[in-house]
Amino acid sequence: MESAPNVKYNGVKIIMISKTKLLELVSLAQKVRVNAYCPYSDFAVGAALLAKSGKIYTGANCENASLGATICAERAALTSAISAGERSFVAIAVAAGKQPVSPCGICRQVLAEFGDIPVLCAAAQGEDYKKTMLSELLPDAFVEFSRMD
Ligand SMILES: [Zn+2]
Repeated sequence: MESAPNVKYNGVKIIMISKTKLLELVSLAQKVRVNAYCPYSDFAVGAALLAKSGKIYTGANCENASLGATICAERAALTSAISAGERSFVAIAVAAGKQPVSPCGICRQVLAEFGDIPVLCAAAQGEDYKKTMLSELLPDAFVEFSRMD
């Protein structure tokens, strides 16, 4: 991977990623999607998060009868990565539905804690995806308590 010049967000340098790696992320998000536990919405979502270490962490949504306790695929992937000791990330893919889906507001906020990364929004099948930056999905994210005076 090569570094992008002068691209920073919350002090984190943005890393350029090859098209092959992006497609791998989309494919892994689509594959893990089938493991989703979603008896209430029947909307299976998969996510694949590339850490700066080069490892990829996946997650699927896990719903609950207490709907507010539901965990999205993106946060499942992130907490798996955090549990493994990762703290720096390169990109995340999310896959679900017939049309590309975008992370919900909670996931955008949780991901923003670790800096700006490309977000690949894909459908459940196919290689098409929409690539956007997390900072575009969640401008002016809340990332530090020091702003609260
Ligand atoms: Zn979410």
